[in-house]
Amino acid sequence: MSKYRVAVVSLGYESYETEKEILDPLGAEIVLATRDCLTEQEVIDVAAGADAILVREAPIGARVLDRLDRLKVVARYGVGVDNIDLGRAKEKRIYVANVPGYGTEEVSDHAVALLLACVRTLLVRDRRLREGRFETDIQDPLYRTTGKVLGLIGYGRIGRAFHRKWKGFLPGRVLVFDPYAHDRIPEESGVETTDLDTLLAESDYISIHAPLTPETRHLIDEHGFQRMKRTAVLVNTSRGEIVDEPALVKALQEGTILAAGIDVFEKEPIEKTHPLLALPNAVLTGHVGWYSKDAVRELQTRAAQEIARVFQGQQPICWVNRW
Ligand code: NAD
Repeated sequence: MSKYRVAVVSLGYESYETEKEILDPLGAEIVLATRDCLTEQEVIDVAAGADAILVREAPIGARVLDRLDRLKVVARYGVGVDNIDLGRAKEKRIYVANVPGYGTEEVSDHAVALLLACVRTLLVRDRRLREGRFETDIQDPLYRTTGKVLGLIGYGRIGRAFHRKWKGFLPGRVLVFDPYAHDRIPEESGVETTDLDTLLAESDYISIHAPLTPETRHLIDEHGFQRMKRTAVLVNTSRGEIVDEPALVKALQEGTILAAGIDVFEKEPIEKTHPLLALPNAVLTGHVGWYSKDAVRELQTRAAQEIARVFQGQQPICWVNRW
């Protein structure tokens, strides 16, 4: 008879060996749902008698927390915890833990990749070559990256990782707009903090790494695009709603800016008829910035380790509902 029961109520990973390796030695049995739990009742059924829950999107509301009387910890595979009733969990002294920063290297790589794909017109060139057009005499507006001004909107984990990677391209200046971090940015980082309008007007490349909040919704709108250089490239791997999408489409169609690399959209998944899909100066991916096999392994490892900590009488490291 196992000492602990750990219920995985959201599925989607290739295997759960990582969790087993971490939790088995503590005498924990892992119970996998047969399919993704979509309702609280499904969670209650799968997690009956559980000491811990591993969850992605399944709802962990007050009813679940009240019904599972052995529950000690809920670990979220990911960052957002809006599907978990944090207040109720706190009242019941059930730890809620998450895994912040698991995809920092991936998202920053992805943003760099989108920027380079735009700057080197990689996808257009690839398509032309496959159509049998070997064009060495191109006249496209391609410019070198070295010496150009980089603008970062949001200078947290991913923004800083982007900066670290882009340093190798020897940017001219690096401008940062992050009103909540301006005081925390050390002088030796070499960035210039600035207001948004200045960043938009002076940057050649702009990459967005701020969270979606009421303040950042449509932070880049038609007015913002009009301030940008006609040779500017915009990259967004953060959240679609930070950019006013119709204004982005218009800016790309009319040549207000040169190109955009976009991983996130106002409404996901996007419609097959989305106007961005018809634009050759947009490089598009479907919210995959976070993904790599390594990121998934990290996610599974860190979530299971938080549960192991609680079973060993410790507090989780990324403890969300502190008391
Ligand atoms: P973080 O919390 O480490 O950094 C966010 C930064 O944005 C902070 O420094 C904060 O001060 C700043 N900020 C807050 N409000 C701002 C505002 N109004 N204007 C400018 N800056 C502001 O977060 P992170 O780990 O760097 O992630 C950044 C964003 O990336 C997340 O919020 C998420 O939306 C997105 N993300 C996308 C993917 C993907 O797959 N594409 C994956 C993970 C995260």
